[in-house]
Amino acid sequence: MKQAIYPGSFDPMTYGHLDVIKRASRMFDKLTVSVLNNDAKSPLFSVDERVKILKEATKDIKNVEIDSFSGLLVDYCREKDVHIIIRGLRAITDFEYELQTAQTNRKLSDDEVDTIFLTTSLEYSYLSSSSVKTIISFGGDISQFVPEFEVPLINAKYSEKRK
Ligand code: ADP
Repeated sequence: MKQAIYPGSFDPMTYGHLDVIKRASRMFDKLTVSVLNNDAKSPLFSVDERVKILKEATKDIKNVEIDSFSGLLVDYCREKDVHIIIRGLRAITDFEYELQTAQTNRKLSDDEVDTIFLTTSLEYSYLSSSSVKTIISFGGDISQFVPEFEVPLINAKYSEKRK
């Protein structure tokens, strides 16, 4: 069975992430989308909330599983017996970091884990979780960037923050 893991923060999940998920799910028998539990960042949504959102967004894609992990990605890959990581590439600005991370992961895994990059669809090339957060923090409309069901969830988080 051909399997891959698509790891990320997904905080919040955007149409850009969803596009990568849909495309990668067509290339593999099973795709695990996994939320990184990273204590260093102060997230908008908890890991459990992000898992729930990803589950809702992908409920119609049969071969996609949603999970979370902490620690080294290569250890998680080993645990799941998966040898391919999927990452999205938007612009040249993503490239340096992604290249370094991919090479580090290959080294750390003794060449057992490789990374495949999907280039962004043109319509989402500008889209990032942080721009969604910036727009909402100024009260802007994010409905073009995230699925409809996610808009009130993000809005509620920002209303809490403003209190
Ligand atoms: P990180 O994992 O670096 O915290 P994210 O959770 O925002 O970042 O993104 C996870 C992955 O999805 C990364 O590989 C990122 O490049 C990719 N990605 C994010 N937004 C888009 C987009 N609009 N188009 C394609 N790939 C994207």
